Amino acid sequence: MSVVQIEDVSKHYTLGEQQVQALDGISLSIADGVFLAIAGPSGSGKSTLLNMIGCIDTPSSGSIVINGEDVSGKSADQLADLRARTIGFIFQTFNLLPVLTAAENVEYPLLQLKELSAQERRARVASYLDIVGLSAYAHHRPNQLSGGQRQRVAIARALATKPKIVLADEPTANLDHKTGTDILMLMKSINRRYKTTFIFSTHDRRVMAMADRLVKIEDGRVVLLGVRRAKKWTVIKPSARPEIHAKGDNDES
Ligand code: ADP
Repeated sequence: MSVVQIEDVSKHYTLGEQQVQALDGISLSIADGVFLAIAGPSGSGKSTLLNMIGCIDTPSSGSIVINGEDVSGKSADQLADLRARTIGFIFQTFNLLPVLTAAENVEYPLLQLKELSAQERRARVASYLDIVGLSAYAHHRPNQLSGGQRQRVAIARALATKPKIVLADEPTANLDHKTGTDILMLMKSINRRYKTTFIFSTHDRRVMAMADRLVKIEDGRVVLLGVRRAKKWTVIKPSARPEIHAKGDNDES
């Protein structure tokens, strides 16, 4: 099953008199449970594509279906609700709220889920801080944590709403090599254990090496699709209807 279906999506921005074509006819079908890297040079459209999938921005043309829901035509409130329930975000600069503790940062997106009681929220926060190995740091503020610990808090925050999809924009860009590798391994283990779909934008070869699906974009177009089976990459030409199938081939598990 596809968790993200992108059909012929283009996005242009107007800068003064100039038109910038950030995405140019992208079609992609992203299967549930994949660990997908979106790679490409700076300015190729990676962040724009993530913003479209994350319902932060809308396409100029084309359609996007997230978890069975067509994004076009939804109101800002409906999009916010879809985002809150379906998508978790991880950023390269962590984006934690500095005045809140680690636990409060993880709790923050849960406040939007009105069906959760305060007790359920606290239980969720404790369980996700435990998953990322930070139970002992629940009451620390971001400035009392290392970069790697901050990114772990951000991962717990992204996961606490139990999203179908986690979007990560260059998640290792501000971490040293070892910490970046640890963070990637943590995300990969969560992907395997909970079958959460992870979609990354990256320049980092390690992220690409750990991915089981690869989408390379240049000038807003898909130029290569890769599927890994049994540690071997198969390259698919981005032809008329590129699909990134997953079923039964997440083989390193
Ligand atoms: P990447 O993430 O691969 O570095 P981006 O998606 O950020 O690429 O940008 C793709 C292109 O769209 C670039 O030429 C960038 O300058 C342009 N762009 C992105 N966002 C905006 C914006 N809000 N306004 C104008 N141009 C933008």
